Amino acid sequence: MPELSLLAWSLILAALVLGILAGHFGWGKRWPRRFDKLHPDYLTGLDYLVSEQPDRALDMFLKLMDANSDTIETHFALGALYRRRGEVERAIRIHQNLLAREALASEHREQALLALAQDYLRAGVLDRAERLFLQVSEVPRLRSSALAALRGVYERQHEWQQALDAYRQLAHIHAAPPTRVAAHYLCELAILEIERGDTGRARELLRQARRETAPFPRAALLRAQIARQADQPELAIRLLRIALRESPNLLLEELPHLLDLVGAERRDGVLAELVDGARSRGTSELKLLVFAAIAANIGAAVPLRPAIEAVFAQDATLNAVWNAGAGQFERIALEIGALLAHAERYRCSECGFSGRSFYWHCPACQCWESFESYAIVKLR
Ligand SMILES: [Zn+2]
Repeated sequence: MPELSLLAWSLILAALVLGILAGHFGWGKRWPRRFDKLHPDYLTGLDYLVSEQPDRALDMFLKLMDANSDTIETHFALGALYRRRGEVERAIRIHQNLLAREALASEHREQALLALAQDYLRAGVLDRAERLFLQVSEVPRLRSSALAALRGVYERQHEWQQALDAYRQLAHIHAAPPTRVAAHYLCELAILEIERGDTGRARELLRQARRETAPFPRAALLRAQIARQADQPELAIRLLRIALRESPNLLLEELPHLLDLVGAERRDGVLAELVDGARSRGTSELKLLVFAAIAANIGAAVPLRPAIEAVFAQDATLNAVWNAGAGQFERIALEIGALLAHAERYRCSECGFSGRSFYWHCPACQCWESFESYAIVKLR
């Protein structure tokens, strides 16, 4: 969310102050007939606000709010605004102040607990956020919000089993995200089992992942990894090719592994099959294959030449490079390969986070499967 400008923020605060005043006196009921009947604290609070002393202004408003129960929504609005601005300590003070009020109605208490949990989440105090979200998840009215937030907390902490449990509870109340998310949790759990050496359990988790959603290339990729470790190269090759067909975006990362598995003698045969397959499925996949091959320094392989020419012909810049090189195939492929080697390879399509590593789960915005091959995207 873009930062609010100072002016916009001042206007919002001013509107809230008016709301607070209105709430205190009651719109249309007992608006003070005479301005001099206003409590002097309001004027002091306004003065702090105008003189840019937001903490003192906030102290003043919180003190005044204690006397009035008609202004609850203003509290929540102000707290949410502070949180959105990243001024989490102020949001926390507002919500703690509400919770300290003995006369607070139970629905407002529950709402304040949820808001406080969101404050802690924003502040990165995940253990406190988790405790409060768990508490609020017992309230039927707020259950889906609390569970969705809990799922996010567990994701950030890489607590995959707990994230999966929260997902299942959300599914039970028809509020879960797409089933691919559950399949990714199962893959994360499978990776932990592979690391522990329990490949039987890992395979069972991957079967569950495929039952959640299909096609699901990540499961095929992990099964290929298990097959490779178990010295079953043919099975690993078959599974890798399934994963690459289902998600050509993986080519940049996985083509070298595939070629390593097939060995030098079978390399050109496999490349020719990959080119045929990619060509039949469309230009964008062919482009991904060509750039993956160039990045893997096999751009000069004979079966790739017509594909590289076809891809370069569709891009004005590349075509110019190609023509300027007067058909010096190997040199141009190597030069582009060197460029790709230093380029940021991936970018999150949701938040723009970019880097050289591929992630299934964006470390910046926590989206699943949002990574694209950046160098190739830029050349489109
Ligand atoms: Zn992202």
